[in-house]
Amino acid sequence: MGVKFNSSSLLKLFGIGGLHGIVILALLNETEQADWLVFAAIYPFAAIGVGVSMHRYFAHRAFKTSRWFQFALAIMASLAFGNAVFFAGKHRLHHKYSDQPGDVHSPKQGLWQSWIGSVVDCGYPTSTIEKGARDFLRYPELAWLYRNSFVPALLLNSILFLVGGFSMMAIGGCLSSVLLLHQSSAVNYLCHLRGYKTYETRDDSRNNFIVAILTFGEGWHNNHHRFSSSAKAGMRWWEIDMFYWVILLFEAVGLIWDVKRVRPNQVLNEALILKTTGRK
Ligand SMILES: [Zn+2]
Ligand SMILES: [Zn+2]
Repeated sequence: MGVKFNSSSLLKLFGIGGLHGIVILALLNETEQADWLVFAAIYPFAAIGVGVSMHRYFAHRAFKTSRWFQFALAIMASLAFGNAVFFAGKHRLHHKYSDQPGDVHSPKQGLWQSWIGSVVDCGYPTSTIEKGARDFLRYPELAWLYRNSFVPALLLNSILFLVGGFSMMAIGGCLSSVLLLHQSSAVNYLCHLRGYKTYETRDDSRNNFIVAILTFGEGWHNNHHRFSSSAKAGMRWWEIDMFYWVILLFEAVGLIWDVKRVRPNQVLNEALILKTTGRK
């Protein structure tokens, strides 16, 4: 699967290139302390928008929530140019065909396609993606955001530009988008290539310690492929999963409920099966 160059994929490619250009230009010039403070304030929400919102909620429905908080989660995902509904449809195809023909970003397709190409063009027509996410498209507010997913990020970056100029837009806004793009792609590529397997799965998914730390728990990817609807990806005590801590916090304050968890004996038993049979 390669990138098909049409207006949509070219726009995305220029967008990704433009965001990198803006960030590099700002870093080469002077930045203010205020720019980094804005970054520190926005980045956690944008990261939660990717890991907790787009991935664990929209793609996997790892918990239930109210309609307003569902929309708030979708907005959070859009802060860094994410599209929660599109992501859900696309990511479900990754789990359906992982590392087989039809996967949207297997490392078997090569570094470029897995890391960037699949963000620009995942190889499926829009209708297939929409079919995979129709459970969310029935909400008018989510359907609107799906069609206008760039609006929150464009609005945010415009406000930052007006308030603090180019460097605040670049560091406070665009840097989060660039970092989160590479964090997600590191999971898609490296966690199907390098690391250890705790569970038997149909794919090459791995738990990668470094990626997991850098992605707040998303790198426990072999665990995730085995228990994909589980809200918790870190299964052993040292598999730190900060996004799960966020989920616990949301649950404690009543924003979400019916959080899906794996029974502890299932976590342990299946891990032991792989250890004793030595299957890879
Ligand atoms: Zn995967
Ligand atoms: Zn997933």
